[in-house]
Amino acid sequence: MTNNNLGLYIHIPFCQKKCNYCDFYSVVPTEDIKKRYIESLVNEIKKWGERTARPIDTMYIGGGTPSLLSEAELSAILGAVRNGFNLLDNAEITVEVNPGDNLENFLKYAVSLGVNRVSIGVQSCLENELCTLGRRHTANDAKKAVAMARNIGINNISADIMLGLPDSTLDTLKKSIDGVLCLETEHISAYILKVEKGTPFYKMPLNIPDDDKTAEQYVFLCESMKNAGYEHYEISNFAKPGYQSRHNNRYWKQEEYIGIGPSAHSFFKGDRFYYERDIDSFIKCAEVILDGTGGDEAEYIMLSLRLASGLNFNEYIEKFKKPISNQIIDKAKHFEKHGLCTVSNKGISLTAKGMLVSNTIISEFLGVIYEDI
Ligand code: SF4
Repeated sequence: MTNNNLGLYIHIPFCQKKCNYCDFYSVVPTEDIKKRYIESLVNEIKKWGERTARPIDTMYIGGGTPSLLSEAELSAILGAVRNGFNLLDNAEITVEVNPGDNLENFLKYAVSLGVNRVSIGVQSCLENELCTLGRRHTANDAKKAVAMARNIGINNISADIMLGLPDSTLDTLKKSIDGVLCLETEHISAYILKVEKGTPFYKMPLNIPDDDKTAEQYVFLCESMKNAGYEHYEISNFAKPGYQSRHNNRYWKQEEYIGIGPSAHSFFKGDRFYYERDIDSFIKCAEVILDGTGGDEAEYIMLSLRLASGLNFNEYIEKFKKPISNQIIDKAKHFEKHGLCTVSNKGISLTAKGMLVSNTIISEFLGVIYEDI
């Protein structure tokens, strides 16, 4: 059952330099742009706060690089949120940090302002891979970042790691995984590299592992995480018991959230909308664009199957006032024979092997939905 609470996402579109693979929206800021952006952001937070009295129980400050914010800037953002919204005392408040920044200071003021979870962009524990990715930190910086966060009293830390990297093998991945597991973070997100158009990687000759080798890496990673006591609760996410990301779960469970900042998406009062990927237009006149989707069966199938808990038949009936199509169940049973999903009388969920080809499985199910329409 969903409750009346909302999530809040704040986008900080600043990076000191672009990483070679990155497709997120960010710019290299000047002091002037930073100042004007924070002013617009604070105004926009105020406006949203006037539109709803719903309590905020998760807040996520992502980017870009939020750890480039000064104490005054972070304080202005969190102050506007607390003034404008009903931010619950037990809210999960996450901030993304780059191990290349001066984190000792940043983490101190972040915690004093209420941040209680950090997500650290480790990406790899091998120096040559960090260099290929164009990251501006070393593996040791990531280690120091986790130690600093612990020292300052943060007991909910997430680390990002990437797989399917140029020239990677199971051996190199194992070294990277061992390095990340040594950090003993409560949560790990693992993303397969996707070379996106418009990124520097797109134009570089890269020796990227083929689909089979990447699949081997993914399965190996899932096993390693399981053996280290992490629960594989979503395609790309692993958590120690009690440490799933409350904010990200909201996206996959189709719960509502407001996203503020260029490129940020929202799901509010049944509508989905977003801000343009352009900091100047956000500063000039922040306007959201409706994307015309939201809350339908296709979306429920897509998002619920990302989670280990999977698609629940009763929840489906509750939401759409009809049982899931038998054709979908038949297709799921077919995938089950190939070890890609499990079907019970409660619902359908993907296995680790199935999560790797989730797009194919989900599009088979969506084919049934679209035939029905
Ligand atoms: S620091 Fe993060 S957001 Fe910025 S360019 Fe690198 S990956 Fe992208």
